[in-house]
Amino acid sequence: MQSFDLFQHLSKFKIKGLGPKALEHLKNIPIETLFDLLYDFPNNYEDRSHITDIVNIREGDFVTIRGKIASAQLLSIRGRGKLFKAYISDSTGTLELIWFSSAYLKGVLKKGTEVNITGKVVGPKYKIVNPEYSFVLAGGIFPIYSLTKGINQSLRRKISKEAVKLGLNIEEVLPLNLVKKYDILNRGRAIKEIHFPKSSYLLEQAKRRFSIEELFIFQLATLQRKYEIARSVIKYNVSDDKTLVKEYIKSLPFSLTSAQKRTITEIYKDIAEGKIVNRLIQGDVGSGKSVVAFIVLLYMISNNYQCAFMAPTETLAEQHYVSIKDSFSNMDLRIAFLSGKTKTKERREILENLESGSIDLVIGTHALIYERVKFKNLGLTIIDEQHKFGVRQRRALREKGGIPNIILMSATPIPRSLALTIHGDLNISVIDELPPGRREIKTEVVRKDNLSVLFENIKRSLDENTQCYIVCPLISDSDKIDAFSAENVYEDVKEKYFKGYRSDILHGKLKSEEKEKVISDFSLGKTQILVSTTVIEVGINVPNASIMVILNADRFGLAQLHQIRGRVGRGSQQSYCYLVNGNPYPCKRLNILVDCSDGFKIAEEDLKFREAGDLLGTKQSGISHFKFLNLLRDVKSIKLVREEAEEYLKNSKGILDNRLKLEFEKRFTEKSVMN
Ligand code: ADP
Ligand code: MG
Repeated sequence: MQSFDLFQHLSKFKIKGLGPKALEHLKNIPIETLFDLLYDFPNNYEDRSHITDIVNIREGDFVTIRGKIASAQLLSIRGRGKLFKAYISDSTGTLELIWFSSAYLKGVLKKGTEVNITGKVVGPKYKIVNPEYSFVLAGGIFPIYSLTKGINQSLRRKISKEAVKLGLNIEEVLPLNLVKKYDILNRGRAIKEIHFPKSSYLLEQAKRRFSIEELFIFQLATLQRKYEIARSVIKYNVSDDKTLVKEYIKSLPFSLTSAQKRTITEIYKDIAEGKIVNRLIQGDVGSGKSVVAFIVLLYMISNNYQCAFMAPTETLAEQHYVSIKDSFSNMDLRIAFLSGKTKTKERREILENLESGSIDLVIGTHALIYERVKFKNLGLTIIDEQHKFGVRQRRALREKGGIPNIILMSATPIPRSLALTIHGDLNISVIDELPPGRREIKTEVVRKDNLSVLFENIKRSLDENTQCYIVCPLISDSDKIDAFSAENVYEDVKEKYFKGYRSDILHGKLKSEEKEKVISDFSLGKTQILVSTTVIEVGINVPNASIMVILNADRFGLAQLHQIRGRVGRGSQQSYCYLVNGNPYPCKRLNILVDCSDGFKIAEEDLKFREAGDLLGTKQSGISHFKFLNLLRDVKSIKLVREEAEEYLKNSKGILDNRLKLEFEKRFTEKSVMN
């Protein structure tokens, strides 16, 4: 089967069990093509090769038991139809079974019938509701799919079973030498094993194959795009004259670090060569990314290009606005601020001026892309803290006209190998050096029982005029998660630990005006203690705050803790970070933060400690739409696959054949993963 066929609508195939009605229902998943169907992998599996004795079952277990129906009866429940109730016995005990609206079972599961029952045990009096039954001893691993109305598990399995047969002849998409070299399961076989695994070993092999496949296709397409961008030469109207920039650099109270200089040179080089700037600047919190951004902005503006600067939150955008206006105050620049809150009249004026070219630089939030903003001569867009920005937004921005120069700035310390993958189409500059003279934040792990002692000590520092953050994982108390909540801690801070001190609370559920007030009060020193959730992670800059307490630190990833810690250490005084371990046993991971202040190293370590899950929440943030790639488990393969993709493109002279293009588009662009 050709990949062309794979993307045909399902109605083009004869698949048993898949009538027009089922087709209609599947649309909601959404499954429309054979590809959709075959690549809608089970989200879980049941191992039925194992029979459980009734005596051993526990509430919540998913079990298969084998026994004889001891008794069975059909009951009527008022207003709710019929209920079939049976008891099954094996040599160790008896268990209750209940089916709703299944009167026909009366003729199927008669007393004395030997049967296998599979389902989840619910309590407290153990029973299984609506279990599956079968008569042959059905061993093996069964797929569990996500369902939709009108498609139950057994129909979904039946459809899969048929489709997998078609899929066995599916054309390989990976280069054959890659398949050989890494001993990868071939595509048809992998499809079969991922739906109906013969063994857990083969299931793992199938998963590995699909993660490599996904990664390879993604890398090919993003690399190809990168090469394309690199090849396209545009006409800049820039002069070599950098007087304005030089003046600005001279006015700074410090000299640039060599990492900053290197990054600026890299960007200048792109422009001088007539290349589209398509770059990610990665640098730890406080490494001085903003200055770099300002310098490049200034260069473009002095060459009569308009620029845009976007930040993910209102607060952060405002801070940039203030600081840019301040930095450029002695230059004759026309700078505007635009956010969702800008008043109609002012907004209209700004939009007009952007279109006519009488604004040089606009700073703002998402509003910059959602609004019908048009530029006369846009030359550069800078996006700060891009991990909070979806890819779709980035693309929308590219469509604003002008030169599609984009610089993304990120403080998320993703290890380079991963950054190259996630941002496959970007060039990357790393500012791997902090300005000199920074004092390290003294970091300590504290046991939960020592919290009151810690708070007593902090009081003394507060008396000496510093300020303190207390970060909690939750907003409100939860019965499900045993962890500190901001609301509760705030009460304790006010009434118990810090009675007589000025405290406040900040979390995501506050209205934005309330948030701003809280932040501004804290910035001005009106409050001394800010109890908060992780909303402080980005965008708050209060140099006088030198103490950070993170409660239940064990619940956060190392990279995130590092980000949170970066809220202190911004002033001249010595700063402290206390990581409060919510567990009674030691948390080894946390010691890494005690010993290390390099965000990139911390991120690498973080990887080693996390076993599964989505690295840095890339899924939510929209950076990546990898369905299958477990970034963590595959750190090594990522590098290898990237090299293979590079090799492939080199051999094909940077050209992707239509088949591969299609495979990529179907997986990624329709979900808009491309920038
Ligand atoms: P970030 O990378 O977190 O955005 P900023 O650009 O906000 O960092 O810089 C953090 C602080 O360091 C600012 O107060 C800035 O003025 C200062 N800074 C930037 N570059 C240097 C440098 N080369 N030497 C000394 N201080 C610097
Ligand atoms: Mg910054």
